[in-house]
Amino acid sequence: MKNTIHGLHHITAISSDVHRNLEFYSQVLGLRFVKKSVNQDDPGTYHLYYGDYAGSPGTIMTFFPWVGLHRGRPGTGQAYATGFAVAAGALQFWQKRLAERNIQTFAVEARFNDEVLPFLDPDGLRLELVASAETDTRAPAPARDIPAEFAIRGFHGTTLALIDSGATAALLTATMGYRLVGQAGHRTRYVADTPGPGNYVDLLTDPALPRGLNGAGTIHHVAFRAADDPAHVNARTALLERGLHVSPVIDRAYFKSIYYREPGGVLFEIATDQPGFAIDEPVESLGTRLSLPPRLEPHRAEIEAALPRLHH
Ligand code: ZN
Repeated sequence: MKNTIHGLHHITAISSDVHRNLEFYSQVLGLRFVKKSVNQDDPGTYHLYYGDYAGSPGTIMTFFPWVGLHRGRPGTGQAYATGFAVAAGALQFWQKRLAERNIQTFAVEARFNDEVLPFLDPDGLRLELVASAETDTRAPAPARDIPAEFAIRGFHGTTLALIDSGATAALLTATMGYRLVGQAGHRTRYVADTPGPGNYVDLLTDPALPRGLNGAGTIHHVAFRAADDPAHVNARTALLERGLHVSPVIDRAYFKSIYYREPGGVLFEIATDQPGFAIDEPVESLGTRLSLPPRLEPHRAEIEAALPRLHH
């Protein structure tokens, strides 16, 4: 499976209040609301997708907003923090912007060659703005009130919190095409075939971290990219040969998916780049109507009636 995975595809988290979630990711962080859909396994709840203008793989943060859900606890066995890439020098802009909106931030940290501003979303989800001097050719998310030079360009990477990183590291390097590129303190950094923002996975083995508990404000799963169907099938075969339990290929309308739990407890997915989010609405109007997969389309009226109205 070497060289068949090309970094992160999307990251899916759990939130509680759907309106607050939409306001935060679209208005505060300036991501584009690229798809309003439903949880395909629970169509009574939304599945909201945020990303760059085109909804490109590697920029897509998604949420299952379960209204009134109890708050979880970030910790081991979870994707602990989600890093968004911004240009070097952008953190001052963000510190001011987040402070003006009473968003909880933490001290800027130096991490490898980058500067990292950790902060929390309204559900307590751990986010980071990673200011890197590395080349990032991705177009900035087109926010109205965020200058392009400071805007988010997609993911920088994900940090998995683990009690022991050995088996996860072996899976990443032997079967998922990642290689070790850095180690500092309790953190080791791995990168997919193409180095650069969007392609990093950090493994964090900090003994001070509690065990993670699922709930609002925690990550549900981390999805990696497969370029096409053959690469997707090859990836599945390699994971099965490794002895992992892997789901069948599931058609999610915007991509095909397989799911498996990595040895440290984090749910992984591999999703295809195609067909993408413009399959059921034009790029210019992404996110403006409720998108349903074909099998749920006959139930549109009852599904729409049961969902809260979103103002966007
Ligand atoms: Zn997913």
